[in-house]
Amino acid sequence: MLTTLRQIVLEFSQAAELEPALLRLVSQVKDALSAQCCSVYFADHHKQHFLLMASDGLAENAFGRTSIGFTEGLIGLVGQREEPINIANAQQHPDFIHAPEVEEDKYQAFLGTPIIHQRKVLGILTVQQEQARNFSENEEAFLVTLSAQLANAMANIEAQGLMAVSNNQHVVNTHKGIGGAPGIAIGEMIVVHPIVELSSVIVRKEENSLQQIARLNESVKNTLADFSVMGRKLSNIISDSSLDIFEVYKQLLESDNFKDEIISKIKQGWNAESALKIVVDNYIVQFEALDDDYLRERASDIKDLGNRLLKNLQNHKNHKQQLPEEFLLVAQDVTASMIAEHQHLGLSGIISLSGSNNSHATILAKALNIPAIMGIEYLPFQTLHRQQVILDGYSCQLHVAPNDTLITEYQHILQAEGQLQAQVKKVAHLPATTLDDHSVSLMVNSGLSSGFEFTHNVGADGVGLYRTEIPFMNRSCFPSELEQTLLYRQVLTSFKGQPVIMRTLDVGGDKSLPYFPIAEANPFLGWRGIRITLDHPEIFLVQIRAMMKASVGLENLSIMLPMISNLNEVDEAMRLINQAYYELSAELSNQDGAKLLKPKVGVMVEVPSIIFQLEDLASKVDFFSVGSNDLTQYLLAVDRNNKRVASLYDFYHPAILKALHHIAEKSQQCNVPLSICGELANEPIGALLLMAMGYEKLSMSAHSLAKVKWAIRHVEYQQLKTILAHVLTLTSSKKVHSYMHQQLLYLGLEDFVQVRL
Ligand code: PEP
Ligand code: MG
Repeated sequence: MLTTLRQIVLEFSQAAELEPALLRLVSQVKDALSAQCCSVYFADHHKQHFLLMASDGLAENAFGRTSIGFTEGLIGLVGQREEPINIANAQQHPDFIHAPEVEEDKYQAFLGTPIIHQRKVLGILTVQQEQARNFSENEEAFLVTLSAQLANAMANIEAQGLMAVSNNQHVVNTHKGIGGAPGIAIGEMIVVHPIVELSSVIVRKEENSLQQIARLNESVKNTLADFSVMGRKLSNIISDSSLDIFEVYKQLLESDNFKDEIISKIKQGWNAESALKIVVDNYIVQFEALDDDYLRERASDIKDLGNRLLKNLQNHKNHKQQLPEEFLLVAQDVTASMIAEHQHLGLSGIISLSGSNNSHATILAKALNIPAIMGIEYLPFQTLHRQQVILDGYSCQLHVAPNDTLITEYQHILQAEGQLQAQVKKVAHLPATTLDDHSVSLMVNSGLSSGFEFTHNVGADGVGLYRTEIPFMNRSCFPSELEQTLLYRQVLTSFKGQPVIMRTLDVGGDKSLPYFPIAEANPFLGWRGIRITLDHPEIFLVQIRAMMKASVGLENLSIMLPMISNLNEVDEAMRLINQAYYELSAELSNQDGAKLLKPKVGVMVEVPSIIFQLEDLASKVDFFSVGSNDLTQYLLAVDRNNKRVASLYDFYHPAILKALHHIAEKSQQCNVPLSICGELANEPIGALLLMAMGYEKLSMSAHSLAKVKWAIRHVEYQQLKTILAHVLTLTSSKKVHSYMHQQLLYLGLEDFVQVRL
């Protein structure tokens, strides 16, 4: 049975055309269960009915015509109950309705199971038989299992099927992605394909390898020039570490390894295109097999690089397509270079079927302030060329063929967003002080992508979290002490006179290094953050030394330890930090007498265990900083990157708010300065609640700073305390959201309810 089931699902999900696939499905199921009829119905949620799509046993004329309302007949009953219904004599069932056109009078036995994807009924699968009998438990189990396995493939079809409806009848069709860049864009979609694709190269041998090597060299030269032009064009707009991707491409092209590998294939007799394809494919397979989101994304970079080299090998000129004045770009795999090529031509939004928050395309989109949605599965994008869409980068939703009402609604949001942006910018350089004179420090989170974060004109009081991972990621080996020192010096200098909290390397989980792969079944519960660096003191010490060296004369450095789950880790890290400090002090005083100031050292509160040891920790560290992103993930047992459970990941879950409140109370009791650097502080509601709890420093993305400051400057601290007291009595995040929205209205912050900025 298991083999049959697998075979049916596999065939169905790989089929190129829907109709024959459905017909094959029903006849396979009919045979597998030795039934006399099998049928499949699709749910149309707009029309509130199930449509008979295919059957082996019912009248062919009824396919695509006969529909049954969501609350009608046995089919409706299966859909409503969301469970299998097994009836020996269907015709005598009170819910049975007679539909003569399907010609089912001869069937008595009926078994129907719903096909459900992410709690939504997508269709119904039925088997019927002339003999009045109940289907056996095994038969029922088979149909239930099959329906569950078909659900994924059906979700794909549902998207495409509804798309047809939307084209004809103007029904809005919404698709959800898994990440992207914030913002809203309304306009026409333009489908972009890579000009040439390595996947279409048919490998061939060629005699004249010297000529092939010369062609390769020429292509490498031209590709390097392309990347320089792209980097230069963008650097006029952003000065930013997201441009590093073009540097990485260039380094890879200039590195002997990559080119030598291709040349060695040419020397084995392959022509230049084939040699390139073999080498690039090999890299892609290796990257895609990695158990790490960030590294898997690098496969897309290698593919992009390979396609660029191929284009230049074959001397393809860029095919210029006619573009509207403003457009949203959609492609199977939007790459950083695609964005670079289109950004000055009216690009207002980006939609990529593959990719995630980690892709370079996303990083670049954020830096350029272009809304984007990545990882939008099941989008039949080929059919959407020139289609009108609304891209909502806040909720990662794409509305295809929106109706006028929705367009107007979004236009209002866009307009309000623009006004709010202009309004909040006015307070960017004023203190974050409430109407009744309570002040907090607003700081920026930095290091992930944006040079924007390095600028002073966002009005930050310093850096609350500098993530050191990214400079470690875009490379082929660990950065040296000197390289790190120079980089950290840059950061510390740009915030001269203001505190900068640098976090020690926090890799593992969803971030790992190309040259230091970690394969684990449960990476978020595994070797991560401080656990890795304590196991590798040579890496930790180099980083600490680099940070301290960089701070000489600036004295604005604090060091923060990620993923602390017990006190031993703090003791051990402190021992190493002290060792680095004394060694470096000695070295420096021998050299030029420069004095090294010992930095403050704090820990991130992001693993739940440590919440209950704050008093014990207090005497060991200088500050606490809450990592609410991980704290939420660990307290709620919800993987922060797992789409299936994304709706459960909620900062406003009462347990999270209570934990945050407890941390604030304990820190005050122990007299330890407290900050927060998770995403929660980016949201005005979150920031106001945190402030009321007693958080003194809120660290957030540079983009959110002005709006949070504006909200703080328009409320009274005492009012916030009253609001918080009530919030802490609420029992669900839904209640918290609706209460806070209502309070924002009372506080005169209604703009923040509608506009998310
Ligand atoms: C956090 O966990 O809240 C945090 C700020 O760190 P990261 O998102 O880098 O894990
Ligand atoms: Mg974290």
